[in-house]
Amino acid sequence: MPTLIVLALNPSAHAFETLGYTWPIERMPVELGVADDGQPGNPADCAASGGLTACCEETLPAGSCYEAVQSAAALWSDATCSLLEFEVPDGTSNPVLAAPNTTSGPGSRVIFNDPDGIVEAGVPTITLSVFGGDEFDELEQVVVIFNDGMAFRQPGAPCDDAVDLQAHLNHHLGHISGLGHSCDEGEPCEPELKEAVMYWTVPDCGAPTELAQDDIDGLRFLYGPRATLDCGGESAQALDITCTLQVTEPYVATQTDFDFGDGSDGTSGTHTYAEQGTYTVAVEYVVGDDESCVDGASGTTSVEVTVCAAPEPRFEVDVQSSTQVQLLNETAVDLPGCINDASWTVFEGDSATGDPVVEPLTGWEPLLQLPEGATYTAVLELAGPGGTASATQTFSTSGGSASNNGGEGCGCSGSGGAAGWVWALGLAVAMGRPARRRRS
Ligand SMILES: [Zn+2]
Repeated sequence: MPTLIVLALNPSAHAFETLGYTWPIERMPVELGVADDGQPGNPADCAASGGLTACCEETLPAGSCYEAVQSAAALWSDATCSLLEFEVPDGTSNPVLAAPNTTSGPGSRVIFNDPDGIVEAGVPTITLSVFGGDEFDELEQVVVIFNDGMAFRQPGAPCDDAVDLQAHLNHHLGHISGLGHSCDEGEPCEPELKEAVMYWTVPDCGAPTELAQDDIDGLRFLYGPRATLDCGGESAQALDITCTLQVTEPYVATQTDFDFGDGSDGTSGTHTYAEQGTYTVAVEYVVGDDESCVDGASGTTSVEVTVCAAPEPRFEVDVQSSTQVQLLNETAVDLPGCINDASWTVFEGDSATGDPVVEPLTGWEPLLQLPEGATYTAVLELAGPGGTASATQTFSTSGGSASNNGGEGCGCSGSGGAAGWVWALGLAVAMGRPARRRRS
């Protein structure tokens, strides 16, 4: 079931405010019906006809309600760099298509003489927004209702005691677009914001007939070009990146100036960093197209990127017993996301050849069980956005400590080294003595 919500406006406005909804682009143009068939307005005849004939405000010339809604629709639709479009079905030739003069029923419309008695005394106009959908937050339709019992003057007529119908229509189509007020009652307000169509009150005389810059800014905020910068997503990248400015259709970027955050810039979004790190990429842009955004819209947007060089693996081997070694990963991990895979392979002998003696291990620092008393070669391979690299070490479990021979991609020094071999040799000598005694 749809819910009916009377517009409640944010009271803290100092420039344009929004009402929390927009019309989706796929629903353009927004149709706004008006039941004015060109007959002189008469509320009783209008009601008797089911809201189809004689429904224009009776203090206005026949047909002028339809023309006034068309004029207000054009005021907002013609603004540049905005995708909002209103369309007013022709009430004077087809009031059925144009929607009846009633608050009930589907479709957005402007209605006169408040047939359901909704508008408070003294209030010229209200807008009802109808929301629905699964989440009750999808705008379905709006109904602008003009008060009964108030005298309205026709568009362009000299100021008198009657209410300016065109000025109220202009203002309420701004609300229908999703805009609140440039300033609300009692707020400090810059003079130019008082000139806006969306100023909180519509003056009896001398209301603006054109959109002010603040009205246009608000409209472009809701319906103008959207530009987002994509440098490959949020995950870390290799040192060479490609950034693209994505602009909502049908707009296109006509100018881009990138700053890559490392002191270099350019009009293209491709760049190769010299060092890994986290950088802020910013782009100044101009977007436009040939029709709806001829005067262009400009802005700046930025995104943070982490770029990675190839990993530099380093590790040590802690021989804990003749059958157990702990592989100790000493690789520097300065930047999150630059290493996303670590795998270990262990071969028998002093080179990384032949079949591995254990299944390849993943994990940062695996504990390894090995057959007793042999020489092994371990390879650590690290992979990340910047590439893949490996380090190799040869060690022996027979003496309980490790040696290393450095290796590809390894700038490391292994534990034990020469001292470990001395200790291993001493153990062998000690184990040999009983044999010699038996021989003697
Ligand atoms: Zn208002």
